[in-house]
Amino acid sequence: MSQVVFASANPGKIKELQELLSPLGLVVVAQGEFSISSVDETAHTFVENALLKARHASKISGLPSIADDSGLEVDFLKGAPGLYSARHAERHGKGSGDVANYEFLLEQLDGLADAQRTARFRSVVVYLRHEFDPSPIIAEGAWEGHILHAPEGEGGFGYDPVFCNHDTMSPTALLSPETKNKLSHRGKAVAEMVKQLSARAK
Ligand code: IMP
Repeated sequence: MSQVVFASANPGKIKELQELLSPLGLVVVAQGEFSISSVDETAHTFVENALLKARHASKISGLPSIADDSGLEVDFLKGAPGLYSARHAERHGKGSGDVANYEFLLEQLDGLADAQRTARFRSVVVYLRHEFDPSPIIAEGAWEGHILHAPEGEGGFGYDPVFCNHDTMSPTALLSPETKNKLSHRGKAVAEMVKQLSARAK
């Protein structure tokens, strides 16, 4: 078994990735185990931010690394909050945290019909063999939907209560974690990453 460091502190993501990568003989080690702190996400695209995180993790650990970056793109807002999804409300002086973020989003879309509320979650997952890997594996996943008029459901995190996904046509906060992992942007990106990693291993 060889080790790969994951540039995330999210226990749910770490567990999910470990389950998907163990058939490939890979053991996922969270970056916290190497006392790697998170790096500033200073880039302007998901892929660049993911690469910054992975490169930092490989540099400190000396191991191959995986990192992801994700966010919500709302068409009416020309792709915002996008890269800044986690701090959407804060950047506009509207408080902070998940509830403040989606309440501010609802305010921005107030009065718009469903057809003008289209959006998608986007996730990019990258794999670096080492700090200076010139050809990283880059995998992407998107999950189409629209923004509801009011929050619904208690599950999930972030914008889940206001995101009606077009696979189940239900608020994402009502889905079980298993269903969400199968359908979501992150689930798709990780599955694509696994496919590319196994192809490379052959
Ligand atoms: P991160 O890439 O996990 O840091 O996610 C960035 C931000 O995008 C989160 O803080 C959420 O606001 C939003 N986001 C990403 N994925 C999801 C999701 O699956 N559900 C709800 N919000 C999400």
